[in-house]
Amino acid sequence: MSANEIANYTCPRCGGTGWERVEPGGMVRHCVCSEQERLKTLLKDAHIPKRYEHCDLESYIPREPSQKAAKLVVAKFIDQYPLVDVGLLFLGGCGVGKTHLAVALLKEVVKKTGDRGLFYDFRDLLREIQGSWNSVSQASELDVLRPVLDARILVLDELGANKPTVWVRDTISYIINCRYNEKKVTIFTSNYLDNPSRMGEETLTDRIETRLRSRLYEMCSVVEIGGDDFRKAIKQAGYIFRP
Ligand code: ADP
Repeated sequence: MSANEIANYTCPRCGGTGWERVEPGGMVRHCVCSEQERLKTLLKDAHIPKRYEHCDLESYIPREPSQKAAKLVVAKFIDQYPLVDVGLLFLGGCGVGKTHLAVALLKEVVKKTGDRGLFYDFRDLLREIQGSWNSVSQASELDVLRPVLDARILVLDELGANKPTVWVRDTISYIINCRYNEKKVTIFTSNYLDNPSRMGEETLTDRIETRLRSRLYEMCSVVEIGGDDFRKAIKQAGYIFRP
C-alpha cells in the first residue's frame, strides 16, 4: 500500500467509525482497528526512548546464566501480569541489558492489557521536576509528577544515578511511597549493587539510603544480572553497534 493509500484507507469492518456490529441490528463493539490505534497511542505515551524502541524479549540474547535467568523472570512476569504483587529491581553493571529487559516487559504488558505504562530515566525525571520550578516553565511540579504517580506500570531507569542530596532522596521517597501506598507496580534498574564485588564501591543503599532500600525489598523482587557490557563486547567482536 502506498503512503497515499494508507492515508485514505477506511477500515472495511467499521467504515472508519471505530465500532463494528457483532450481529445485524444487534450489539456493537470496538473494532479491531480502533484497538490497534489505542495500542499505538498507549505505546507512544509510554515515552520509551528511541534508543530502546527495538527492545523485546526475543532480541535479548543471554550470554551467561544470570542473563538467561533474568529473561525467564521477565517472561514469567509478563505471563502473570496483572496478577503480580511486586515489581522488579534489575541490578547489574553497565550494558548487561537491564533497560532492554525493563522496556521489553513494559511494551508487552501494555500490549497485553492496555494498561497505561510509562518509562522514565530517573535523571530526566528529576531534571524535569527542577525545570518546573523555573518561572517561564509552563508545567508545575504536579504536572510532571502526576503521570509518574498514576501510571499502572512504571519503569524508573537508573535509580541511584543522581548525587544523593537530601532533595533527591526526598523526591525518590515521595514517588516510591506514593506508588507503594497505591499498590502500583514499579520496575527499577540500577547500576549499584547490594553487595558489590569490588572493595569500596558504593552500594544501592549508599545511593538511596537504608529506609528506601528496605521499602524496595517490599515492592520488588531483585533480578541481578552479571556479564560484560554488551556494547563493548559487540565492538570488540568487530561489529558496529547501532540499536
Ligand atoms: P544496561 O541498562 O544494563 O546498562 P542496556 O539495556 O542499556 O544495558 O543495554 C545496552 C544496549 O545493549 C542496548 O541497546 C541493548 O538493547 C543491548 N543489549 C544489552 N544486552 C543485550 C543482550 N543480551 N542481547 C541483545 N542486546 C543486548
